[in-house]
Amino acid sequence: MSTSKDKSSLNWLDVMQNNYGEPKITLASGKGVIVTDTSGKKYLDFLGGIATNVLGHAHPVIVRAVSKQIATLGHVSNLYSHPAGLALASKLQQLTGDPHARVFFCNSGAEANEAALKLSRKTGRSKIVATSGAFHGRTMGALSLTGQPSKRNPFKPLLKDIKHVTFGDITAMRKAVDKKTAMVIVEPIMGEAGVIVPPFGYLKQLREMCNQYGVLLVFDCVQTGMGRTGTWFGYEDEKIRPDVITLAKGLGGGLPLGAMITLGSQSPQFEPGEHGTTFGGNPVAAAAGLAAIELITKNRLMVSAKSFEKRLKIKLEAIRGVTEVRGRGLLIGIGLDGDYAKELAGLLANCGVLVNAPNADTIRIAPALIVSKVQIDKFITIFTQSMSEVNRG
Ligand SMILES: *Cc1c(COP(=O)(O)O)cnc(C)c1O
Repeated sequence: MSTSKDKSSLNWLDVMQNNYGEPKITLASGKGVIVTDTSGKKYLDFLGGIATNVLGHAHPVIVRAVSKQIATLGHVSNLYSHPAGLALASKLQQLTGDPHARVFFCNSGAEANEAALKLSRKTGRSKIVATSGAFHGRTMGALSLTGQPSKRNPFKPLLKDIKHVTFGDITAMRKAVDKKTAMVIVEPIMGEAGVIVPPFGYLKQLREMCNQYGVLLVFDCVQTGMGRTGTWFGYEDEKIRPDVITLAKGLGGGLPLGAMITLGSQSPQFEPGEHGTTFGGNPVAAAAGLAAIELITKNRLMVSAKSFEKRLKIKLEAIRGVTEVRGRGLLIGIGLDGDYAKELAGLLANCGVLVNAPNADTIRIAPALIVSKVQIDKFITIFTQSMSEVNRG
């Protein structure tokens, strides 16, 4: 007891870089969809580590897989193969439905997109087209792909030859892409931009355009992967495949793990020595990822994600002040009729519900896929009360 109190009395600003701003809440433990802060207050975690804790906190299946792996073989570098990494790569290949799929493991979304960016150079072309508002990570390469001026501007100059066009607008994309384009990268649903869903057919049109010009099509499924949208990868509803998938967030079942997966027999491939990372696909993270995929499959969590989507949309759209409810599966953006999302998120936290505000008029929720109907309904109740509270003043 005294240790956790001592730790929480440490002052963030005395020891941390201030890049996140000082968090108001210090979390001490979690179980399922409930987290507890250092003062003992409990919260319904409807952000899930930003779409990362697919099985919630301390799930016995993850705890068992990680404990067993760390007690057997914890880290080997990439000079050696190991069963957990091979098993997870094989499982991911199977989930893509493509026997030509080949996996490169890393530790984060930014690194997965860096890998895709480097791979695109192997086409012999250097032009890249991405979309405005997109988020692809914070490292210099990934930031160059990211289409958010506030994140980019302090760090210019970034990589050249990268153009950003309006998301969801195929005409704008066609104007920007030609035979000199190496790759097009888009999120199937833009997460950080506020859960923005493109018109149905957009991804398929991108596929056709990229085929026409021999351009690599990269789908950044870092936020929309791992069953979150009701399918394994966020693009599957359009019945097409990209040339490259990037994954992270939920992939490791809460542990740091990312992946870049090439599809088809024609995609460029790295040669030995061309790319790498020390921890990528580490046995412990791989064992956790594999356990998460097996449980999502066994418990049909993607089916429940889809039914919760329907329930959330019906109930939340009926609340005064909610303009629209966007997203798929358990990645949901709640549009508000004013710029009070931050205030509302603060109020919800006071009431024991964790969400975030990706922009001024959107609340995002991305709870664990193991969330129960009772917890979904509890969220709806507290959200409804908080909305009437903010709209009263
Ligand atoms: C979070 C995110 C990233 C970056 O992932 P990190 O692990 O934070 O580097 C990239 N792309 C998308 C779509 C994301 O949501």
